[in-house]
Amino acid sequence: MTHEEKCIRPRNERTAPVKTPSQALFVRRLLRWYRRQGRSLPWRRTADPYRILVSEVMLQQTQVDRVLPKYREFLRRYPSIEALARARVGEVREVWYPLGYNVRPVRLWGIANEVVRRHEGRVPAERAALLGLKGIGPYTAGAVRAFAFRRRAAVVDTNVRRVLQRVFFGRARPDRQVWALAERLLPRHPYDFNQALMDFGALVCTARAPACARCPMASLCRSYDRFGRGPAGVRAVRAVRPERARPAAAPAPGRRAV
Ligand code: SF4
Repeated sequence: MTHEEKCIRPRNERTAPVKTPSQALFVRRLLRWYRRQGRSLPWRRTADPYRILVSEVMLQQTQVDRVLPKYREFLRRYPSIEALARARVGEVREVWYPLGYNVRPVRLWGIANEVVRRHEGRVPAERAALLGLKGIGPYTAGAVRAFAFRRRAAVVDTNVRRVLQRVFFGRARPDRQVWALAERLLPRHPYDFNQALMDFGALVCTARAPACARCPMASLCRSYDRFGRGPAGVRAVRAVRPERARPAAAPAPGRRAV
């Protein structure tokens, strides 16, 4: 077994899976980067599952800058899940404008009604119960569990998928492998880790122009030679296709792009 293959055993094996040294180093560097560079966003200053659910649905395929004002306005108008469930769906769509992908407010309104009817107005914390709500997919279920209930849940959106594929695989891999890796990487306190991974994909390891020259993962990354080395790297960056082009149709439930 090489040095890289030896495993680091976390103190609490029941809650944190074994990581290789490079995985452990990735987590440490990511959390250090996040402490210095992470974004301050309003949905990171609440543990209210309803607010987190609203933010996650708004962030599907939509830039953070566009979401910020609408998130505040929407919550002023519908401060609770009951208030949203009581509203007319046509009105909710109007309030949503101009965020786009208008199936999203309809889905969110439907989720609010289901939560009120089936869960007494409380967003459930269990994965199966969340996935049982029409319009919630694996990504949104993970995000609500991780960010509202502080559960050990992986959260793999487009940014996270891209970062993990580049750093650990050097090429695109099937979703199930990326999810399995994201779960393995989770530290004992995964909240910051999940937020950090999203910010890192949005700010450093971006789809079209990864900032390899200032990237703390450069020495670990299996894609550094492709993206980070001089003119060849620049050519590769120009040539690379975005992993997930912005769709013309409505996004699948639970896919966050930005
Ligand atoms: S070295 Fe480049 S490709 Fe690798 S994680 Fe950093 S920014 Fe992304």
